[in-house]
Amino acid sequence: MVKVYIVGAGPGDLELLTLKGKRCIEEADCIVYDRLVNPQILSLAQSKCELIYLGKGNTQGGVIQDKINKTIVEKALQGKIVTRLKGGDPFVFGRGGEEILALNEAKIEFEVVPGITSSISVPSYSGIPVTHRNIARSFHVFTGHTSKEGTWHNFDAIAKLEGTLVFLMGIKNLDLIASDLMKYGKSPTTPVAIIEKGSTSKQRVIEGTLETIVEIAKEQKVVPPAIIIIGEVVNLRSEFNWFEKLPLFGKNILTTRDYKKSVEFAYEIEKLGGKATVIPLINIEPLDVELDIRDAKAILFNSQNGVKTFFEKLDDIRILGDKKIGVVGIKTYEELLKYKIKPDFMPEKYLGERLAEESVDFTKDGDKILFITSDISPIKTEEWSEKLNRNFVATRIFKTEKVIITDIEDKIKEVDMITFLSSSAVDAYIESLGDKKHNPNIKIASIGKMTTKSIKSYGLEVEIEAETSTAQGLLTEVKNYYTNL
Ligand code: SAH
Repeated sequence: MVKVYIVGAGPGDLELLTLKGKRCIEEADCIVYDRLVNPQILSLAQSKCELIYLGKGNTQGGVIQDKINKTIVEKALQGKIVTRLKGGDPFVFGRGGEEILALNEAKIEFEVVPGITSSISVPSYSGIPVTHRNIARSFHVFTGHTSKEGTWHNFDAIAKLEGTLVFLMGIKNLDLIASDLMKYGKSPTTPVAIIEKGSTSKQRVIEGTLETIVEIAKEQKVVPPAIIIIGEVVNLRSEFNWFEKLPLFGKNILTTRDYKKSVEFAYEIEKLGGKATVIPLINIEPLDVELDIRDAKAILFNSQNGVKTFFEKLDDIRILGDKKIGVVGIKTYEELLKYKIKPDFMPEKYLGERLAEESVDFTKDGDKILFITSDISPIKTEEWSEKLNRNFVATRIFKTEKVIITDIEDKIKEVDMITFLSSSAVDAYIESLGDKKHNPNIKIASIGKMTTKSIKSYGLEVEIEAETSTAQGLLTEVKNYYTNL
């Protein structure tokens, strides 16, 4: 099927994508996206999906628009499902219309998926409603950009509007906008806000009046993308501001888990208003080993990955009927529940050794106990067998590969905190750094004792250690850390 979806991706916050937009991303063989699209959104695409970045500094770039049109047509004619992702809404200064003309000419089918436009949502995220009872009964959205051949707005008419005025792409012409509005009669004390990188963790709001805003914007070095909003509604911000109060607002947190888990973790970080930088430093792969569980009396799991891989390898679940099952912690517990198995025991402390000790209450002297784990998990089966009078057997069914990112230092320049959820990720980080030193301004958070030990073994400081050794436990700690700062 040849089809192009022209999709609005919203203003920046990943969750402001529509369900339909998400479906179009998941279906796509090829995605063409621009500068304003949150890169996290791209993680929703299939792994084989071709991602093409065609950004433009601003929307005046006619040359790049031609290239975009050509690329979309070309990819669609190759029989691919193409999703054209645009910031905000495709038709609000998004040049979606020009792309449609090109598609029509090539007789290619298309659908348009509206997006949440920045013109209303970015003000929302800064606590400014575009209309409000008794304050603004309308709002008006303008481009602040003058196209080469185009004429400037009729400010005589605009200055007489009672509603809220919103200017997109207006930073370059801020001076002109403010002075023309005053020239035609808007009060110099009319409140103005400029919102930079709205709905992202880097959102910045600058406030002033028509008279003062140009100077303030210059001082504060405002950069695009930014929205200018003019009107009495701006005053409501002091009362309505909510986004900047989220616990991780303004913080950039690095997640180092394997790709799938990193993406899940990133989502949780962004829900708390933070920005997640995703750099998986480990990769999980099943190992080519057979399960031999017939004569085992108990089976122990110390990770979700262990449970998942175990069930991928198991061909008949009834073999587990007479086995006692132990798990190291709540996440592993929950993973087993997915397979309709209620573990018999879970130690209070999330440690492999405790798990082994507890298994004693569920088995007899000399019983064989399988410990399902990874290639590198430091479990001491021999020591435990001797001490506890059982026959502990390690079954290593998946491997954790380190991923080395040689330019990691560059990639994490803007990160405030690194989260480590395993010693392997710590090792991979250090190996990635090579000769370079860890930047001490970047704080380190650890999931628990073992990981902390690895971090410290490299001479690095641990700022936070989770009380409960789960991703959620770590996130709670990170949240508390920044809330109490
Ligand atoms: N189609 C988009 C607008 C594209 S024009 C939409 O509906 O939102 C690009 C302009 O949009 C930028 O110059 C800026 O004025 C505004 N903009 C888009 N995203 C923004 C954001 N996250 N924060 C502030 N302004 C944004």
